[in-house]
Amino acid sequence: MPHASHRISLFIVPRDPEHELGEGHVAQLRETLCKEGILDAQDQAGEHSGRFVEGGFARFRFDRPPWPVVYGNRLGGYRVQCPHCDANMVTLLDLGLRRWRNGEGRGVACESCSREFCIEALRFKPPAAPGRWALVFSRAESSELKSGVLERLGFLCGVPLQTIVVRG
Ligand SMILES: [Zn+2]
Repeated sequence: MPHASHRISLFIVPRDPEHELGEGHVAQLRETLCKEGILDAQDQAGEHSGRFVEGGFARFRFDRPPWPVVYGNRLGGYRVQCPHCDANMVTLLDLGLRRWRNGEGRGVACESCSREFCIEALRFKPPAAPGRWALVFSRAESSELKSGVLERLGFLCGVPLQTIVVRG
C-alpha cells in the first residue's frame, strides 16, 4: 500500500472527556518539544521527530474545537455499539453529542436494553474517544507513539492520555 502511512494522524486525547487544556500548558509543551528537536518553531517535525513516532511525522497541531467532539474515523464503515447489548447506537451518539454540547451531560440511553452509558463507554469500531481537545501528529509514519511518549505527554499535560488513530 504505497503512501498509505502518509494518511495517518495520531490524535492524543485526554482519558477524561471533560478535561480542558489551557494555552499556557500548550505553550510550555511546544517549548519543551522544540528544545528536544521533536518540533520546529512552525510546528513542523523537528530533526528528532522520530523519537516520538517511528519514522517521524510531518506536522503538529493543537486541536481545540469550540464544542466537544468524538475523535476517530467518521468515514465509511465505522460502528458505534451499546457495550451491553451490541445494538447500533450511531444515531443516539449524534443525539448524545448534541446534548453534551448543550451542557446536558454525556449520558446516552440504549433503545434496545434501556441502559444508560456515558459517551466514552460506547463501543467504537475502530476506536474513537470523546474529548474537548487533542494533540495531533499528522502524516505520521507509524500508527503508534514510541514507548513511553504517551506517558510523558500525559505528564506534560497533567492528565492521562490515549492515542486515537485516524486514517484518511
Ligand atoms: Zn443496549
